[in-house]
Amino acid sequence: SHQDRVFNFAAGPATLPEKVLLKAQSELYNWRGSGMSVMEMSHRGKEFLSIIQKAESDLRTLLNISDDYSVLFLQGGATTQFAAIPLNLVNPNDTVDFIVTGSWSDKAFKEAQKYSKPSNIWSGKSEKYTKIPSFHDLEQNPDAKFLHICANETIHGVEYKDYPIPKNGLLVADMSSNFCSKPVDVSKFGLIYAGAQKNVGPSGVTIVIIKKDLIGNAQEITPVMLDYKIHADNNSLYNTPPCYGIYMCGLVFEDLLDQGGLVEVEKKNKKKAEILYNAIDGSNGFYRCPVEKSVRSLMNVPFTLEKSELEAEFIKEAAKENMVQLKGHRSVGGMRASIYNAMPLAGVEKLVAFMKDFQARNA
Ligand code: PLP
Repeated sequence: SHQDRVFNFAAGPATLPEKVLLKAQSELYNWRGSGMSVMEMSHRGKEFLSIIQKAESDLRTLLNISDDYSVLFLQGGATTQFAAIPLNLVNPNDTVDFIVTGSWSDKAFKEAQKYSKPSNIWSGKSEKYTKIPSFHDLEQNPDAKFLHICANETIHGVEYKDYPIPKNGLLVADMSSNFCSKPVDVSKFGLIYAGAQKNVGPSGVTIVIIKKDLIGNAQEITPVMLDYKIHADNNSLYNTPPCYGIYMCGLVFEDLLDQGGLVEVEKKNKKKAEILYNAIDGSNGFYRCPVEKSVRSLMNVPFTLEKSELEAEFIKEAAKENMVQLKGHRSVGGMRASIYNAMPLAGVEKLVAFMKDFQARNA
């Protein structure tokens, strides 16, 4: 029963809404009288077609996506998109601009070197990836075909609160770890991509939202599975899609709409993040968050202990109290609490109470 469940602060795959899991459980064996599980259905049958169409239309409602954009449900993770984006949008000798605010935008930048001429126009590395640049300091290349950003750096916990305007109007964003966590003006972007496994479903589904007029110019070497035109022309059914994952994403989209949409979802996320950051900042230095306050992520909250030798004990004791996956990424150490949409307020309140108690016992 749900009483056995832990508060899971993992960065992804991550906690999903209990309501969604229970609904999936109730339909697992026999989906709505079809006599089949969604896992057993033909991806070309009318049942699955209704599932993928509803998922797309609910996502369009949530993010207010206009008909000028295609919505694609793909595989390969956001990592595959690091290659697919330059392959589809530019030629091998084209310049493209990257802002490198953490590990993920750095990986995207490096992969793009194989298929284009990316330019790292700003890096936060020397400041340990705790900042987002101020936009008027950016020196964009005049001939850059797009500007790539990572909207939320999952490992370092920096999040754009506003977006830079690219010289040529084409902004590309990795939204893997803050997708559907708040309203986004999709019309500002040429392309948005996100792995599902943080905010909207299980791993195995990657969502691409792309302006239709950008589709159809892939480089000749582009593998068929990476060609947006192939997937757009076939409504994401060119080959067998990740059917069950798409179904789960659909249940999450429905749940987000039931909650009142992304304006309401953002309010809840802001409240959770505020409670946690206040606990860190109000600890007289016992806990610290290195990220510049104005760009702190609402989704991934990295923090350290002044007495770093106690970090392993903190993580161990928290796990005993059913708060798991609080260890920071191996590249940065410390702790990280991922508090995606599906993390209940009660989970954050319990963590903060534990933090205060741990401090009282170890100060
Ligand atoms: N981009 C960001 C911001 C991420 O958090 C992740 C996390 O896994 C990735 C890209 C890579 O995604 P995937 O593992 O789905 O390839």
